[in-house]
Amino acid sequence: MDTFYCPPSGISGDTLEISGGEFAHLAHVMRKKEGDALMVVDGRGNAYASVISEIDKRSARCRVVKTHPRFNEPDLRVTLAAGILKNPSKFDFLVEKATELGVHAVVPLKSERTIPGGGKSDRWRKLALAAMKQCGRSVWPEVRELTTLGALLGESGTYDLKLVAHERAGGEAMPMPRPGDGAVKNVLVLVGPEGGFSGEEISLCRGSGFETVYLGPRRLRTETAAIASLALLLR
Ligand code: SAH
Repeated sequence: MDTFYCPPSGISGDTLEISGGEFAHLAHVMRKKEGDALMVVDGRGNAYASVISEIDKRSARCRVVKTHPRFNEPDLRVTLAAGILKNPSKFDFLVEKATELGVHAVVPLKSERTIPGGGKSDRWRKLALAAMKQCGRSVWPEVRELTTLGALLGESGTYDLKLVAHERAGGEAMPMPRPGDGAVKNVLVLVGPEGGFSGEEISLCRGSGFETVYLGPRRLRTETAAIASLALLLR
């Protein structure tokens, strides 16, 4: 079933209304008709199996047949903070893959060695919306504004597991944990930019309770390390 997005404001009881850009896509691209079934997600974790009851020039009104809470969502809430990249399309790719893998939020990170390459959070939010629909999940991952490492470390107390992927760690680092035991709910994983994290930054992370995790002896690109970390955490 095709998936469409409807913000919570468009949903009331067992009816919902799709309008704006999503309606244009539904009516003119997907050429949906009254009586057609579709899956509607609210971006907050709810999916509504629905049937179109009425279409007019500007919106489609649907009847909700079944509501699915936490539809296709992982139990673990993982926030990925990744150094922004010189080539903005690589960060586009990272946001899209992270969304497919079930990330809860993406924090574009400014650190000592990041090279500001353009790319804006609004653009990445739109990519995350499209990826949510494409992969059929129901949470629209939050893409934060560009955040410095210092600011992120300052608020890292709210996570019950904090990991920093570090290629230099070698033997000292632990392999990516599989926090499936229920005790861990909220994970923050950091991945550095092309130039990596400085020794000073790693020490700051360690001082803030981060554990270094090692993804093997090869030097992975930021987007590869991000995807690998998420795939290992959210499996
Ligand atoms: N400048 C570094 C490479 C940085 S790679 C160097 O030349 O060695 C970008 C980021 O990906 C790193 O900051 C780290 O967070 C992550 N990363 C890359 N390879 C990794 C590995 N084998 N283990 C853990 N993290 C890795």
